[in-house]
Amino acid sequence: MQVLTRVFPVQIDDMHELSIIEGIIKITEEEVKKYEVNRIIQIRLKVGIISGIMPSLLQEYFSIASKGTVVEGAVLKIETVPLRIKCLNCECENIMENIKIKCPICKSSDLKILSGRELYIDSLEVE
Ligand SMILES: [Zn+2]
Repeated sequence: MQVLTRVFPVQIDDMHELSIIEGIIKITEEEVKKYEVNRIIQIRLKVGIISGIMPSLLQEYFSIASKGTVVEGAVLKIETVPLRIKCLNCECENIMENIKIKCPICKSSDLKILSGRELYIDSLEVE
C-alpha cells in the first residue's frame, strides 16, 4: 500500500458538485497512469467550510460517477477545512463558525480569510 501525499489542486470553474466529482476522477485517472497504480483505495478531499460545496452531494455523485472508472470502489473521504480569519488590524487569527464582519478581539472589519474556501485532493491512497 502506498500513499501519494501530493496535493492536487482541483481547478474547476463550474463549482457544481457533479463537475467537481468529474474533475476529481479525471485527476485521479491521470495520476494512475503516471504511477502504475493498480487500485485507488481512498481519495482524501479537503473542502472549505464556506466553499458552498455540500459533502453529502459529493458523496452521492461520487457513487454514481465512479462506476466503470479507476476510482470505482474507492472511498471518498471528505475533510472539512475550518474558516480561519486573520485580522489585519490586530493580527490575531481566529477560527470562526461563519463569516462575521468584525474581529472578535479588536472589532476591526479589516479581515482576511486564510482558509475555509478551498477545495483540493489532499492525498490518494493506492496499491
Ligand atoms: Zn483584530
